[in-house]
Amino acid sequence: YISEISPESQMLYVCEWQASTDLKLTLYTYLRKQVPRIFCQKEESNPNEEEEEVERLLLHPLEYFLFGEDPDEGVKKLKQGSSSSQLCGRVFKEGETVYSCRDCAIDPTCVLCMDCFQESVHKSHRYKMHASSGGGFCDCGDVEAWKIGPCCSIHDPEAEEREETRMYKRKD
Ligand SMILES: [Zn+2]
Ligand SMILES: [Zn+2]
Ligand SMILES: [Zn+2]
Repeated sequence: YISEISPESQMLYVCEWQASTDLKLTLYTYLRKQVPRIFCQKEESNPNEEEEEVERLLLHPLEYFLFGEDPDEGVKKLKQGSSSSQLCGRVFKEGETVYSCRDCAIDPTCVLCMDCFQESVHKSHRYKMHASSGGGFCDCGDVEAWKIGPCCSIHDPEAEEREETRMYKRKD
């Protein structure tokens, strides 16, 4: 028999863990109780049900605990925090080929390195290229430098999020 664990009681576990002075013991006790419930104490095993219970009884409470809040919210905040640091910032060597976009660059000093340009929307725009005199840096990821497409797909935080969502294959 599997007892239901509601989101509220998940939170109770999480609070208990947060208050625990011996976290290792508390977590072990929890796992020792839940893991056999999920995998052993059943007449027939049902992989889908098992997976759902692992998510609900093990992963989700642990994520809650690690984030200290709803993990979906926590992930979102982490993304927001890191999205501002998604700049390429590559410093150009003298003679290195740099690219700018006539359609989208705010001014002619806004440039992309070759890697970023190749992965950007500006590849299909009216771009121009020139050799760097050295010392400038790639403006990929700077929302103030480009009318559209400030990030190439390497530095686009949303593209990365899509990638991770696919990796997790979460079914919330
Ligand atoms: Zn770059
Ligand atoms: Zn880039
Ligand atoms: Zn462009």
